[in-house]
Amino acid sequence: RPSIVFDDVVFGYEPDRTILHGLSFEVPAGQAFAIVGPSGAGKSTIARLLYRFYDPLSGRILIDGQDIRQVAQTSLRAAIGIVPQDSVLFNDTIGYNIGYGRDGAEAHEIETAARGAALMGLIDRLPQGFETEVGERGLKLSGGEKQRVAIARTLVKNPPILILDEATSALDTRTEQDILATLHRVAEHRTSLSIAHRLSTIADADRILVLNEGKLAESGTHSELLRRD
Ligand code: ADP
Ligand code: ADP
Repeated sequence: RPSIVFDDVVFGYEPDRTILHGLSFEVPAGQAFAIVGPSGAGKSTIARLLYRFYDPLSGRILIDGQDIRQVAQTSLRAAIGIVPQDSVLFNDTIGYNIGYGRDGAEAHEIETAARGAALMGLIDRLPQGFETEVGERGLKLSGGEKQRVAIARTLVKNPPILILDEATSALDTRTEQDILATLHRVAEHRTSLSIAHRLSTIADADRILVLNEGKLAESGTHSELLRRD
């Protein structure tokens, strides 16, 4: 359950266009943290920096007190699970899709692992079994089913840090609320970072940071932010 610290982070993809302007925030270990803000504010960039797709131009990012530039890339990426908005599934079984990365594991072994990881709340809502072929040659899953598989794929690896980058925002409200309720249970006690553009989807977060044009506009709990509006 590591903590995350952004310490005065400056970043831009191009030399003359700064995206994050000295961003500082702290996510205590085990906290459900959320970042909300308009499209283009720099939310996904934060996730990309944590995963070290890019490094800050200045400032530091710490996980558990350690500068992530000093952490081996394999251990850094093992510590962080990211679920993107539109997950791509392999043309293979649901079991393979959830267990992707577990070399040679059969669908039934993945199912056992998923049960062990208490992911069934997520998966038992799938109408199909682990042996079901999905994708182009197999069954077409709905957007919600696809995201359930993708979230399970990430959670079965048991990453101490979970990043949900608009993971449910392309779904209809009912499916979104259903998945969020399950996630709230299975991701409990984990350090998590939920990225969203609507406040309603992150009402459960312990703390919400509002990002605007790469700067921290305000932060607080859901009810505190609503009161200020
Ligand atoms: P958000 O997640 O809040 O919608 P992003 O972090 O994805 O915002 O992007 C912030 C800004 O950085 C946007 O203006 C976007 O166009 C720009 N951007 C994102 N990725 C790249 C990239 N690879 N190269 C150049 N600009 C980028
Ligand atoms: P999201 O907010 O879901 O990350 P974006 O539209 O910001 O979606 O980015 C989608 C992809 O396109 C990302 O991989 C990002 O790095 C890239 N991208 C976004 N904006 C730009 C840009 N201005 N120039 C180059 N690549 C970009």
